[in-house]
Amino acid sequence: MNSSGTPGRGAVSVGALVDGYDCVLFDIDGVVRVGSQPIAGAGETVAAVRDRGIATAFVTNNASSTPAEMAGKLEAVGVAATPSDIVTSALVAAEMLDPGVRCLVIGMTGIHEALTQRGCAVVTDPQDADAVVVAFDRGLVWDDLRRATLALHNGARFLATNDDATFPSPEGLWPGNGSVVAALERSSGRTAEVAGKPHAPLLLAAAQRCNGGRVLFVGDRHETDIVGAAALGWDSALVLSGVTRPVDIPSLDPQPTFVLDSVVGLLRPSPA
Ligand SMILES: [Mg+2]
Repeated sequence: MNSSGTPGRGAVSVGALVDGYDCVLFDIDGVVRVGSQPIAGAGETVAAVRDRGIATAFVTNNASSTPAEMAGKLEAVGVAATPSDIVTSALVAAEMLDPGVRCLVIGMTGIHEALTQRGCAVVTDPQDADAVVVAFDRGLVWDDLRRATLALHNGARFLATNDDATFPSPEGLWPGNGSVVAALERSSGRTAEVAGKPHAPLLLAAAQRCNGGRVLFVGDRHETDIVGAAALGWDSALVLSGVTRPVDIPSLDPQPTFVLDSVVGLLRPSPA
């Protein structure tokens, strides 16, 4: 660490908190950026973790952006990333389907591209759908819910990229994908399979990118990041640069392994 509290590139301290892990998985929003703004020292910290020989990947429930788009957004805030470093809930939802499956889709570019690359077909007639795939969609209209409900009553598989209740916006909380999933669960009497955090598929797919080993998950939201990591027996670092406030911490269950002001704390001396 330098005097400003940010790590210098290559300034490897002995016995940092991150040592002892083979793989560090970073949530994106609230961890390495806030909206389109950088978090001070995040890019240098990610680079320093990699310099220690620790594998890294970025994990996001955001199904709207493709990995290439998300890598560009990370580069824009000073975090070096390639598309292969990014694991999205859209990518993992598509991997949960066999190639050739016909999907009725609610969602934007990220899920459409992931399904197409997987070899799935996108259909609009509920009678043709083998699966209903639900991702965040700002263009959602009642007709989407009508067709999805009909397909689900026909027995189509029910898959959601994530079940986040809300989506943070500059004006406050918007309905998240979980709100739409809840509407369809109500109308169909079915329960969705979910790819994203805190459910296991996204987290396990990300760990696989790192070739496993001892995993540390770094996130800002307890109910997705810390709960999801704990369910898999992973250590977690809760950062206070996103949605969680210090006053929230005592009541959190399960407790994170570490609480850090920001991602920069990964390089602080390890607790003995
Ligand atoms: Mg987050």
